[in-house]
Amino acid sequence: MTELTYQAIRTSDRSFAANMVLLKGAKKAMLIDTPFTRADAHRVVAEILDSGLELETIYVTHNHPDHYYSAEVVRQAFPNAAFVAHPEVVAAIWHSLPFKQARWTDLGANGPRFPTAPAPLPPGTDTLWLEGNEIRILGPMQGDHPTNTALWVPSIRALFPSDLVHNQVVLWFVESTPEQIAEYACNIDMLLALDPLIVVPGHEKKGMPHDRSGLEFTRDYIAAWPEMVAQAKDSTDLIQLMKARFPDAGDPNKDFALITSAQVAMGEAPRWDE
Ligand SMILES: [Zn+2]
Repeated sequence: MTELTYQAIRTSDRSFAANMVLLKGAKKAMLIDTPFTRADAHRVVAEILDSGLELETIYVTHNHPDHYYSAEVVRQAFPNAAFVAHPEVVAAIWHSLPFKQARWTDLGANGPRFPTAPAPLPPGTDTLWLEGNEIRILGPMQGDHPTNTALWVPSIRALFPSDLVHNQVVLWFVESTPEQIAEYACNIDMLLALDPLIVVPGHEKKGMPHDRSGLEFTRDYIAAWPEMVAQAKDSTDLIQLMKARFPDAGDPNKDFALITSAQVAMGEAPRWDE
């Protein structure tokens, strides 16, 4: 059995600086998530071509567009690769696509021409394979959306949790009730209990190590949120409290995630249901 290796490919800020992951065997590879913009998707294609590996699978972790939107560019370059996701994720993408297309018209030629959802994996599929290595699908579970999934590769103790985990980047609570945020915390504890050696977060500050520090940051940030919400007078106050508590945490999109999450938490803006 080949020992798998991985390559994290960070997209540009226009694509929300998300991590795509190329999981590599000796001859074949799997791509976890595809970029938001066509330009970033072309850069991912270039990395795959340079690897010399045959792309066998494109797996989408969840329904946020920075993790699938310009998949068409990758699919055109590698037409033999299966383009798949958990059936609940596929349904969530079809539900949210009209919202995303209405919101992101300013992408122009850098946006997908024919945005679409992956094919659903057969019901009950909980394992993918790459050159004899088992790749377990964890979830769907509550993360920054009710249907996040993660991939767990036991042979190398590697966790690819996409947006369930951030490292020194603020979290997205815009679609979550307080109860769902509490459930998210339990899921992070479950991921920590796997005791992974490698963890590649969906979003991270440049230069962060790919280890359990991402899980620990996410756990601490989720734990602080309800405490700060209880103390804050309004969203401006909540933003200041969180910035004081996590002074190193950034936001690739000019505080959009923190501002919107704070407004939803303080009842100043409606919770998103996309
Ligand atoms: Zn993301």
